[in-house]
Amino acid sequence: MYKISEVVQVLHPNRAFIIDPSSLVQHIFYDSRKIVQADLGVFFALQKNRDGHGYVREAYDKGVRSFVLQTDEEQEKLFPDANFIWVDDSLDALQALAAFHRQQFSYPVIGITGSNGKTIVKEWLYQLMSPEYRIYRSPKSYNSQLGVALSLWGLSEQYTLAIIEAGISERGEMARLEDMIKPTVGLLTNIGVAHKAGFSSKEEKIAEKLLLFKDAETMIFPNSYVENIQLPYRPRKFSWGYDEGLSLEVYSVKQLNQRSTMVTLYHGGKTFAVEVPFVDKANVENAISCIALMLRFGYETGVIASRIKELQPVAMRLELKKGKRNSSIIDDSYSNDLDALQIALEFLNQQRQHARKILILSDLPGVSLADAKSLAKLKRLLGEYRLDKLILIGEVLPQLADQFDVPSISYRGTVEFLADFRSLQFENSTILLKGGREFHFEQISRLLVAKSHDTVLEINLNAMENNLNSYRQLLPKNVKLMTMVKAFSYGSGSFEIANLLQFNGVDYLTVAFADEGVDLRGAGITLPIVVMSPDENTFESIVQHQLEPEIYSFRILNTFLSFLKDRGITTYPVHIKVDTGMHRLGFMPEEVDELVAILKRDSILEIRSAFSHLASAGNEKDNAFTQQQIDLLEQFTAQLKAGIGYPFLRHIAATSGIERWPQAYFDMVRLGIGLYGIGAERQDLPLREVSTLKTNVTQIKHLPAGETVGYNRHGVLKRDSNIATIKIGYADGYDRRFGNGVGKMMVNGYLVPTIGDICMDMCMLDVTDADIAEEDEVIVYPDIKLAAESIGTIPYELLTSISQRVKRVYFYE
Ligand SMILES: *Cc1c(COP(=O)(O)O)cnc(C)c1O
Repeated sequence: MYKISEVVQVLHPNRAFIIDPSSLVQHIFYDSRKIVQADLGVFFALQKNRDGHGYVREAYDKGVRSFVLQTDEEQEKLFPDANFIWVDDSLDALQALAAFHRQQFSYPVIGITGSNGKTIVKEWLYQLMSPEYRIYRSPKSYNSQLGVALSLWGLSEQYTLAIIEAGISERGEMARLEDMIKPTVGLLTNIGVAHKAGFSSKEEKIAEKLLLFKDAETMIFPNSYVENIQLPYRPRKFSWGYDEGLSLEVYSVKQLNQRSTMVTLYHGGKTFAVEVPFVDKANVENAISCIALMLRFGYETGVIASRIKELQPVAMRLELKKGKRNSSIIDDSYSNDLDALQIALEFLNQQRQHARKILILSDLPGVSLADAKSLAKLKRLLGEYRLDKLILIGEVLPQLADQFDVPSISYRGTVEFLADFRSLQFENSTILLKGGREFHFEQISRLLVAKSHDTVLEINLNAMENNLNSYRQLLPKNVKLMTMVKAFSYGSGSFEIANLLQFNGVDYLTVAFADEGVDLRGAGITLPIVVMSPDENTFESIVQHQLEPEIYSFRILNTFLSFLKDRGITTYPVHIKVDTGMHRLGFMPEEVDELVAILKRDSILEIRSAFSHLASAGNEKDNAFTQQQIDLLEQFTAQLKAGIGYPFLRHIAATSGIERWPQAYFDMVRLGIGLYGIGAERQDLPLREVSTLKTNVTQIKHLPAGETVGYNRHGVLKRDSNIATIKIGYADGYDRRFGNGVGKMMVNGYLVPTIGDICMDMCMLDVTDADIAEEDEVIVYPDIKLAAESIGTIPYELLTSISQRVKRVYFYE
């Protein structure tokens, strides 16, 4: 913990206003929604996706009294009882503070970089070396410029070893990370083959990554990556690979059985064999990286072999599953230390869709609660996140129950808990399951999670945030962002997505029909919600749930006006739709005078925005038409504004407009399909696909040539074949037109065609050329754009057709 006066010394600010030099700084805040123990932290106003300077008031209201700003507004006049520090760049300042903090510790720091495997290697080293060291490690995959700074801030005296991840995406970034991390030992993991934007070649990318090791004592790396690279640095080289003369030579890699691989190695004049409990190449490589590092730390080969054999898979993500009785379940039973608990609680805290939050927690075998600090941290965590109920399972935690500031129930074991399960209330709740392996929480999970058909649509919430931010970066600061969550969020599910968007501070949500908006309100969404197709029958629920209808014709205008008048409602927010050429809904440009005349009569309505929709923004051949639409909106809104005498937002651009028509941003844009990672024409947008439709292989048959497969005997075998039946059919939204080879799916890395007609709940794949097994996972649309094209439609239709019986699984990586 530092005093704010010490922070000032570290930061060399341009100016500082310190009202209380003894204010303590234990936490760093950069997001006003994630503030806990406000009085013990400093808020850094970063200019990231959103400008943190706009959140000073909110942070202040939550109790923060120390701020680092990079604009020189005189905030001390508004908040005279708070400390302010002004710097050129607040991210630089945060990094400087993190670097200073790191320098306070002399225990070894392992720095890990690479394109793949960083997080797995970090988590494995934690598993492998915990018996000897008290290890601090970067939370999740916090490895960016901000993430590394926050990771380092967590270092403290209680540890004896730290493992920090470093990730970069362009030139110049590693020097800044190296400056903060100053690793004692550097470790390079796998370098992907993918050619990353931001680098001109693979060598350049590797050289940049190696900068992390500049001042380390030792660098550990797979030799094949650095063969063509100059290594002018000081550190001792610990290379591994298949060649002779390396520090660690790999003699042979042999798959032992379905689950494990035997690796024979040579180091320091000695040959030894290690059984790695994985069979895929990437994880075998990750395990060898861990072995190399353990050798560097002086571990005996016997100890290494016995621990590697017990390696556990790393859960790379927190999953949010749909539970029974209107609840959601976060199932996180892999890691069970306090840092992981904190991450899971944060994720729980971000969920607003249910009224109650419940934590089911087992004893934490990795944590000694006899240690006063650990106990204090656990108490703080349980107190901070405002849980409604705490269920404690085990020998240790139940004895401490009265020390936690949350209503709790205790059980000696999972079996006792299960016996009592029926009497407990789990409805309308978000439930976090956090248990050590030996407590077998999967039994609890099975009772809580809604059962369904095995086909799932996985929604990657990180990818969605990534896409949101990619588009945000195109927008000038004053342009607002509306996101489209119509049609069940393009098939992805409503409240989970809306909740994420609300959390990420979008300005507006839009649905197609009133009931969708009502559902969102019921799930705790407080953002303004526009309803695109309101009708008279739904006015009551629109008003009751504060939804904002789109007014597109005189008929809907007049009926809504008289509805509001009868109830004495005034200044009700609405949005005026203008038809500038799409010819779907909207007032025609020449109707503006008549519209103004009606609106001027009284103030029953308040126009929040007037907008239009581009018919062909993605097509170059229609550029002139698009420009004409933009001009028409401009004229219409100018006349409307002059007529009604007050301003409102104007907007016209959807995804392709955002990509291709920056001159059409007006005051707001409406992001739809781009959010889901599809529809990008622009190559410079690093979009990621959000949803993956998955199922699995139910049965495989070996059939001779001449047999037929499926209804109508359309699938005729021209050769002896292997045919896989999988659990998805047209009732799940897999179009019948994908039958007879049109559809292609990915199984175990093989692209395989459908054969025969698609059935209602199943279909068949020709897997003759693929090496696959029953129960293997099937990715239904390996390339959704191609798939859509192959049946003459667009990805929008494929996504929105995935039926409601397909379970949606949401996760954070
Ligand atoms: C669906 C829709 C959008 C979003 O379009 P995308 O192409 O998915 O970005 C925007 N505006 C209106 C009026 C829409 O109906």
